[in-house]
Amino acid sequence: MEFLFVSGDPALDFAGTMQYRYADPAELLRTPDDFREWIVRAGLLDVPPSVDEQQLMRAIELREAIYRLAIATRDGTRLAESDRAIVNGMALAPPVTMALGASGGILRSGDTEAVMATLARKAVVLLGSDRARLIRECDASWCSRLYVDSSRRGSRRWCSMASCGNRAKVAAFRERQQGR
Ligand SMILES: [Zn+2]
Repeated sequence: MEFLFVSGDPALDFAGTMQYRYADPAELLRTPDDFREWIVRAGLLDVPPSVDEQQLMRAIELREAIYRLAIATRDGTRLAESDRAIVNGMALAPPVTMALGASGGILRSGDTEAVMATLARKAVVLLGSDRARLIRECDASWCSRLYVDSSRRGSRRWCSMASCGNRAKVAAFRERQQGR
């Protein structure tokens, strides 16, 4: 699975597991195994937890609530009560625990419920803080990925230069060529 971690925040990377939301949506978390892989790749746990279908459905419900709240926060519009309830409810559970390893490093442990609690808390911290003002959407017309623009000038345009940035440049070049 091609997961990207370019959003500068786990909550937004999570929202990005539904790609191309406007034209041709692509679900990256199709099976419980996809979510297990994403959890480890996201660095939330060292070992993939067990995930059942019902947990996957709840994770997707959380993800969609985070996405809608992030858009509303960026737009300065009202946060939907139902979305806040989903995120706040899941944030109540005990999160992933962290411990210092014997030879350094962080040992992360917990189950899928803990992962969802951690993601919900990350969303609360991002959306409730000043960093929320830095939430942007990728400039590429086909991409709906959100990210935190922490560039010094606040001039970041793409979720990822390697994917959308280059693709947009190639598309612009072709357009110029055809215009000649
Ligand atoms: Zn993009």
